[in-house]
Amino acid sequence: MTALFPDAAAIVSALGSFLDPDNTFSRTECARLDVEEEFPAAICRDLDRLGLPAQYVPVAQGGRLHDHAALVHVVRRISRRDLTVAVAHAKTFLGAACVWVTGSAGQRARLAGDVLAGVPVAWGLTEPDHGSDLVATGFAAERAPGGYRLTGVKWPINNATRGGLMCVLARTGETAERGPRALSLFLLDKRTLPPGTIECLPKTPTHGIRGADISGLRLSGAPAGPDALVGEPGTGLDTVLRALQLTRVMCTGLSLGAADQALQLIHEYVRERFLYQRLLIEMPHVRRTLGECCARLLLAEAVSMFASRSAHTLTGELAVTSALVKAFVPAVVDELISVGAEVLGARAFLTTVYADGAFAKLERDHRIVAIFDGNMAVNRNAVVNHLPALARYGDGAEFAAAVRHAATLDRPLPPIGELSLRSRTGTSVLRTLPSAVAELRGPARELGDALVTVAERLRTEAGRVRPSVRDVPAEAFELVERYEWAFAAAAAVHVAVANRDRRSTEPWWCDDRWLRGVLTLALDRLRAPLPAGAEQVFDELAGTLTIAERPSILPAADMEGE
Ligand SMILES: Cc1cc2nc3c(=O)[nH]c(=O)nc-3n(C[C@H](O)[C@H](O)[C@H](O)COP(=O)(O)OP(=O)(O)OC[C@H]3O[C@@H](n4cnc5c(N)ncnc54)[C@H](O)[C@@H]3O)c2cc1C
Repeated sequence: MTALFPDAAAIVSALGSFLDPDNTFSRTECARLDVEEEFPAAICRDLDRLGLPAQYVPVAQGGRLHDHAALVHVVRRISRRDLTVAVAHAKTFLGAACVWVTGSAGQRARLAGDVLAGVPVAWGLTEPDHGSDLVATGFAAERAPGGYRLTGVKWPINNATRGGLMCVLARTGETAERGPRALSLFLLDKRTLPPGTIECLPKTPTHGIRGADISGLRLSGAPAGPDALVGEPGTGLDTVLRALQLTRVMCTGLSLGAADQALQLIHEYVRERFLYQRLLIEMPHVRRTLGECCARLLLAEAVSMFASRSAHTLTGELAVTSALVKAFVPAVVDELISVGAEVLGARAFLTTVYADGAFAKLERDHRIVAIFDGNMAVNRNAVVNHLPALARYGDGAEFAAAVRHAATLDRPLPPIGELSLRSRTGTSVLRTLPSAVAELRGPARELGDALVTVAERLRTEAGRVRPSVRDVPAEAFELVERYEWAFAAAAAVHVAVANRDRRSTEPWWCDDRWLRGVLTLALDRLRAPLPAGAEQVFDELAGTLTIAERPSILPAADMEGE
């Protein structure tokens, strides 16, 4: 099969081998930059030259963005090499997203010009005293002749210093007013602000992504003309919550790349390490662990691909879909990394002995994905707010075609529709699960039936949770965590059924192997009884790794070129 995402393949292959220390974007260079806490400027310049910024700009504005799965994938391919680089570069999409969602034609055109020229764009939501609580934003925008004057501090912000532009959330209402309508968004051109009104705060040392520009911005009466206002006054939070639906899905690409990298390092180690007169990979426990890691990656990939494609076909559900995947994918990849660290033993801990210390770096770097762009608790809270809709009954037949479209990986996508703050229809993925499972055969069918039973139980539990804006019960978060697993597994079923023609031809697809693996993993996590011997699929997955190195449901052409 040809590549689904040719742009990503072209960019990656033009970068040259990551393992060649003479290349700018090499493992050796990334390790050095990390030790020196130095920004990967030359690598980012290369990515600009190769056209990566165009992936962040919608086609209508002269860019290449028309398919959010392609955006996830290109971010994954860069993250697979180095998360610091990916976080530093892809931040521009996050900074620009609000303008793509509600900016005026002029703002969109100007911003597109800057992004395509390689100007980094930052996104300033967080303030020292207000993290997740965006409604409490204190950064002030006061009316002044000719527009507004902005005063306040945004910190910690990715690319706050290097960014030429920053999209900031500011309070335009009265200081005492604490409501969503008191906030507005501004796209600030830092390059044009008068001296004395702008100060970039120093780089803040970080646990991971050590080379990234994590700093801040202090404004003191900085002028902003009316053309800096994004959307109507008072619509800032609304716009941010819509844009986050797109950025949260994109962030799953960071985790997928981290998982690719982790699994590659683990696999290389266990197939070369010789202990007890045999290779480590020949030990049953190690093989099982390796297979489980493959299943984690495949499940994360399936739900991420589904979610990013469903942004186009089930846009009205993206409020809940994006929260589910942003909570789930980084968590399952953190788990993969943690289990992998156990297999690597000392080599996961020693920073100069194995693969330039890449695993330890990866472990540190990936921690950030679950923290920014809405941490896990914030995303789970968003899902809790949707529980009444998730509990609603109905087979979702009216959305079956949209689900199938999203799940069919090579089917072209329509443009994204209207983003909505709430999904009134819950998640069609789970509602249409029984009909998709009915298309499975053999052992996969047995696992699918078990998933349907679990999903029905979750639906009943969701119906019992009483919505509460302030004191959300702790149990609801645990329920959402289980819901994420069921959602991810259901998305995997839809993807497997919709692309069944690949079953006989590709190693991961053969005999429903990847699907059986991810369903076994998810059902085990959901404490559902498993058919006898189901776990052996993990050994099959580990075996498949030896013939088809990169675990993926995508065509091999999408994963080559390192
Ligand atoms: C490296 C790095 C880069 C960053 N880049 C940016 C950026 O570019 N732009 C930007 O705006 N921000 C950025 N941030 C900030 C990041 O988004 C914040 O860390 C995040 O908003 C949460 O704020 P906080 O960490 O202060 O946690 P707090 O808001 O203080 O929350 C602390 C903890 O409380 C719990 N909690 C919070 N809310 C809830 C809830 N609703 N329900 C249950 N529990 C809850 C969670 O466990 C949470 O971790 C960055 C942070 C880092 C570390």
